Amino acid sequence: MTVSTIISHEPATGEELWRGAAGDVEEAVARARHAWPGWAAQPLANRIELVRRFANEVRRTAEDFATLVARETGKPLWEARAEIEGVINKVEISVRAYAERSAQRKLNSALKGTAAIRHKPHGVLAVLGPFNSPAFLPNSHILPALVAGNAVILKPSEKAPASGEFLVRCFHEAGLPEDVLQFVPGGPDTGQELVVHAGVDGVLFTGSVQTGIAINRRLAVNPGKIVALEMGGNNPLVVWNTPIVADAAVLVIQSAFSGAGQRCTAARRLIVQDAMYDALMDEVKRLADRIIVGAPFDEPSPFMGPVIDPATADALTDSFLYFLSQGGKAIKHMTRPKGDLPFISPGIIDVTAIKERPDVELFGPLLQVIRVSSFDEAIGEANNTRFGLCASLVGGSPEDYNRFWSNVRAGLINWNRSTNGSSSAAPLGGLGLSGNHRPSAFYAADYCAYPVASTELEQPRAMLGVGFRDA
Ligand code: NAD
Repeated sequence: MTVSTIISHEPATGEELWRGAAGDVEEAVARARHAWPGWAAQPLANRIELVRRFANEVRRTAEDFATLVARETGKPLWEARAEIEGVINKVEISVRAYAERSAQRKLNSALKGTAAIRHKPHGVLAVLGPFNSPAFLPNSHILPALVAGNAVILKPSEKAPASGEFLVRCFHEAGLPEDVLQFVPGGPDTGQELVVHAGVDGVLFTGSVQTGIAINRRLAVNPGKIVALEMGGNNPLVVWNTPIVADAAVLVIQSAFSGAGQRCTAARRLIVQDAMYDALMDEVKRLADRIIVGAPFDEPSPFMGPVIDPATADALTDSFLYFLSQGGKAIKHMTRPKGDLPFISPGIIDVTAIKERPDVELFGPLLQVIRVSSFDEAIGEANNTRFGLCASLVGGSPEDYNRFWSNVRAGLINWNRSTNGSSSAAPLGGLGLSGNHRPSAFYAADYCAYPVASTELEQPRAMLGVGFRDA
């Protein structure tokens, strides 16, 4: 389906926030191709200087930017402010990551000359963004791509184009040539067009597994294009053998319901030791009942905003009903407190009795609970998914954590910490359906430039070896 007009709505009010025509992919690619050699030829110091000016520009406009992100996603203002802070902090992290991961290395030898490893940018990269952190996540691809010397075309989520536009404007205000980073709004069809375009050298994607697989299929015949897929998870959080129930319950709530559960790292499945079940679930339920669900600028501040749109809210409440119909036991019902607007209260359901649980990412505040009696069973349950983004163990001994760490398949494994809140100074990537082994965050530098190995001498110098007749 071709979408020619993109319209975003504020989830908390239903009002239209932004409207614009879908971007022209042909034109954007042509401009980017023309611009990138000049950008790539600039000294690294100039590119670094420019992204630092971008950080200053974001700092200058931070409150407006956060307000826009809060309006467009529905997330509470405090959370949107933290997102913008993350955008700023990403600048120095990207500079450091390039230095560490893409540094030039040289080995000099008098006889053999120089053996050098240097990195080159790919050329034109398309960044396809998701709706949930529409400033931070695309920026996490854009910054390393620019520092490495690529030109970038951002196609933001059709659900959050205004935030993407603001982000790109900050780069331009900072002095980045307009063709080096372009904003191309559009829906899935615009994304597809960019993915397959011969003038696009790589695709840096953050979004759902369905879209990631569709992109991978499209590019199966084109192995030369760099493709980084950051996708979702069906993340487990295991609570095991701890007397500190109150803190364990807080970690459960923060893991499952921060960002209204619309985080790739959110815990979807709480796996609980039988012996802890009653105490833990009483406390989790008590805390969940205290969660304030509200609009971004409400006072007192909400913990959770609405989900992104009414269709998503419907799908989540349907999933809750599905679990109930299959024998699930509601611990906390999911409700729609504000009629048709997509506010939903956190839902918690014990699904232990359901033998065939769908292994899908339910992207919202819906937590499934599974009781287990042994630690082996807990690890088995944690791995009972084709995804592999993140996993947390809360409680247990150092030996338990060692077993958990060794046996659980995920790119992010935490102990006594939330599944959320990963550090930008570390890699973030998943296994299985969560990614294609191109971790992002600190390691994004790896897919923004490719290594070139060279052996070099200033003059030709060579000697014949064996296998030649005398002259
Ligand atoms: P989505 O897959 O619906 O959309 C992501 C982007 O892809 C959008 O820009 C969309 O327009 C575009 N797109 C859609 N179909 C396309 C196609 N066929 N070809 C090319 N582009 C296409 O994802 P979403 O709903 O916006 O975001 C939520 C998802 O993102 C969740 O699954 C979440 O787990 C995931 N996510 C992952 C990470 C991570 O770092 N691993 C971080 C945040 C979000």
